[in-house]
Amino acid sequence: MGQKGREIVKMNVDELIDLLNKALADEWLAYYQYWIGAKVVKGPMKDAVIAELTLHATEELSHAELIATRIIQLGGTPVLSPAEWLRITGCGYDAPTDHYVEEILNQNIKGEQCAIRVYNSLLDLTREGDPVSYNMILTILSQEVEHEEDLQALKEDIDLMLMKRQ
Ligand code: FE
Ligand code: FE
Ligand code: MG
Repeated sequence: MGQKGREIVKMNVDELIDLLNKALADEWLAYYQYWIGAKVVKGPMKDAVIAELTLHATEELSHAELIATRIIQLGGTPVLSPAEWLRITGCGYDAPTDHYVEEILNQNIKGEQCAIRVYNSLLDLTREGDPVSYNMILTILSQEVEHEEDLQALKEDIDLMLMKRQ
């Protein structure tokens, strides 16, 4: 841990590390939910949906990378065991037991909306006290906003395709 880097943090670092670890658990669960969803999804526009879910999976993993790196910079330990993910997660995990494309999209939209809430509140928390975390969180939040929009746009395309015209 860089000494000066930690000195400039003007907030409760232990509390921030706990919240970042919750977000780290969320990111791993989001990664797997997208990754396995892309494997099992069935229905209209499947190929476009698989491409988007697969890309989002890699982006969630990159968020996990950013958060784990920041936790270490702050002097904390990133969550060490997958068993901990479900215990500390803020956004949970929705197993894609129904493989139909719209159901999987709905589950992932719900996950993105939770992520947007979580990162938006982390922005408020770090705005004054930790500009480095703030900057990272803003980067992640921007991508979660993009994810929600991508999924909702796909859903809209599917709805339009399935709509019966008189
Ligand atoms: Fe993410
Ligand atoms: Fe996301
Ligand atoms: Mg996308």
